[in-house]
Amino acid sequence: MAEPTHTPPAEEDTRSAFGWCHWHQGHADGIRLIDVIEQGSGSGITHFACGPCIVANGLVPFADR
Ligand SMILES: [Zn+2]
Repeated sequence: MAEPTHTPPAEEDTRSAFGWCHWHQGHADGIRLIDVIEQGSGSGITHFACGPCIVANGLVPFADR
């Protein structure tokens, strides 16, 4: 009997993601998804914020709710 020894790599921790911060309107490291605004026309609007903006604005990351 073969035991499943396959262990997927830990890719869940993506806190070092690089992208656009909607709060200070610039690129930053460690951005988190803050909000998703559903649009009736199809694609939703996603808002990302960097660490300092999360602290400064008292934001709660979407995944932490
Ligand atoms: Zn920012």
